[in-house]
Amino acid sequence: MNTAVTTTPTGIHHITAIAGDPQVNVDFYTRVLGLRLVKKTVNFDDPTAYHLYYGDAAGSPGSIVTFFYWPGLEAKGRVGSGQNTAIVFSAPAGSLDFWQNHLSAHGVVSHRRERFGETVVAFADPDGIPIEIVAVAEDNRAGWTTADISAAQALRGLHTAEITVRSAAKTEALVTGVMGYQLQRRDGARARFEAAGGGGSGHYIDIIADPSARPGVGGAGTIHHIAWSVPDDETELSMQSALAAAGHLVSDVRDRNYFQSIYYREPGGVLFEIATANPGFAIDEAPESLGTALKLPAQFERARSQIESLLPPLGAK
Ligand code: ZN
Repeated sequence: MNTAVTTTPTGIHHITAIAGDPQVNVDFYTRVLGLRLVKKTVNFDDPTAYHLYYGDAAGSPGSIVTFFYWPGLEAKGRVGSGQNTAIVFSAPAGSLDFWQNHLSAHGVVSHRRERFGETVVAFADPDGIPIEIVAVAEDNRAGWTTADISAAQALRGLHTAEITVRSAAKTEALVTGVMGYQLQRRDGARARFEAAGGGGSGHYIDIIADPSARPGVGGAGTIHHIAWSVPDDETELSMQSALAAAGHLVSDVRDRNYFQSIYYREPGGVLFEIATANPGFAIDEAPESLGTALKLPAQFERARSQIESLLPPLGAK
């Protein structure tokens, strides 16, 4: 593990996508993929939308995938350039036979491929988001286990953040410049970069250059943004200054209750966020009961009954 002082992101914090049906989403991510639902809340910029967070036991940075769901706005998007184009998880070496059988038992068709010397199982979630599980020998993160999924099989968190852009030069310059990533490998149109502090699985971004890719269209079944992790507010503010100094339009700090965030769009069109590792999901729920109640930030508590009446109820995992 990296213990050096860092002023750039340490790796992936979370990936956020858009769901077409929240109950189908909860069932798939908790029962089929075996993640823990760690927070049930709303979009802080639009409290009529659910915001569901899944991850490991604590919802650790690097393990988190989140979904927005807007009631009545289930229109499908299109996966394409200017977007994150897959959610890629790390799983223990030797677990891929289990995963293919488990997915098949839930009616999910999967395929195997090789990439950078690792075996990948590729499939799609119920809304069509491309999902991959990579067998990784070296990754000591502990995944959440369920009745069906043991520690020897559990997804340990995200492996890489894959984005597709029509032209990669400016994106690569940002990632290797102010963000501090280093080129690790290149294979055809795909280049893999690792965070400045290293760390392997969970600390990569894959940039795919595809000049003929159709532009992505936001909507259900697409990924909305990728967030990079920084340890604290001080690092976030230094990244905000560095991004602005490099000519990137970067947002003010937004209070996301479980972390503090800034947002900017990389030159290829993908929305990036930088999120702090603290305070995390136990700030408003006990660790053992994460994800069980609808949690609202203070500014929305007075409108709780109205918000609850607009959101469809979600059944137990
Ligand atoms: Zn986010």
